[in-house]
Amino acid sequence: MSNSRLLIVANSGASQAETALGPAISALASSGFDIDLRQPGDVDEMVAAIREGADACDALVVAGGDGTVNAATDALIAVGKPIGLLPIGTANDLALTLGIPVDPEEAAQIIVSGDTRRVDVGRVNGVSFMNVASIGLSVDIARRQDPQRKQQWRALSYLMTTIEVLGEANRFRATIECDGETIEVETYQIAVGNGVFYGGGMRISEDAAIDDGLLDVYAIKAETILELMALAPALRAGTHVERDDVISLCGRSVRITTDPPLPINTDGEVTTETPAEFSVESGALTIFAPPDAADGQG
Ligand SMILES: [Mg+2]
Repeated sequence: MSNSRLLIVANSGASQAETALGPAISALASSGFDIDLRQPGDVDEMVAAIREGADACDALVVAGGDGTVNAATDALIAVGKPIGLLPIGTANDLALTLGIPVDPEEAAQIIVSGDTRRVDVGRVNGVSFMNVASIGLSVDIARRQDPQRKQQWRALSYLMTTIEVLGEANRFRATIECDGETIEVETYQIAVGNGVFYGGGMRISEDAAIDDGLLDVYAIKAETILELMALAPALRAGTHVERDDVISLCGRSVRITTDPPLPINTDGEVTTETPAEFSVESGALTIFAPPDAADGQG
C-alpha cells in the first residue's frame, strides 16, 4: 500500500485525540502513505470531508470511537473505499469486534498490513448501526452518561452509570417478530446486535458475528432488579443466550413494537424509536482488519 493516498478524518474531540493520533499518523506516513488529514468540527463537516475527499484517495481512515464511525457509516458505504480504523474514542467496540488493537499506533499497523474484511451494517428505521441497537435499560444508561465522568473513567463509567440506573429500572411490554417468528415479552432490555461487542466489551452472544448477514436479538426477562444484577456477568460474557431468563433470536429481519413507544439507542446515541423495523446489509463495508480474528477472540 506504499504511495497510496489515505484520507484521514479525525474526531478531534475524541478522548485520546491529542495524545494518540500523532504517533499513529507518523507510523502511517513512515510506511509510505500520502496522508490527507482532516479534522472536521462536527458530523456534517465529517460527512462532507468523506464525500469530497474520497475520489482522490485509495482508502479512508476514521480516527475516533464507535460514535464517530457510526456518524460516518452511510457516507462510507456511499463512497465504497476500504476503511481503516484508528480507535481513539471512549467506546471502541467495533475495533474489539474486528480484532483491531485499541492502541492507535498498533491499529495503524493493521492498515499498513493491508488485510481487509467485508462487514455487515445493521439498520433500524433507516438508521445505520455497526454494533448494537437497544431499547430499555441501556438507553437510560446512555442518557445518564456524564461527559466528564466518561472522559475520566472511560469504560468504567458505563458500569458506574449502570449501577445507578438499575435501581430505577422498569420493565416494558414488547412484541418481537424475527424472520416470521413472533414472541411477546415483558422485559428490561432488548438488544439487536449486528456486531459482537457493545457497551465497552459486553458480548451480544457467543455466536454473534459481524459478517454472517444476521442480527442477534436478546430480551432480558428477569423479573426483579436482583435477578437482573445476577445476570450481569453472563451478559458481559455473552453466555446469557443459554439462560431461561433471556430470550434469544437470530435472523435477517426483525420488527419490535412496544407499548408505549420507546426510544432506541444505536451504538451510544438515541436515534429513533419503536415501532422499529430492523434489517442487515450484508458486506456493506470493507474494513482493514486482521484476517484471522475470530470476532474478538483473535
Ligand atoms: Mg451478525
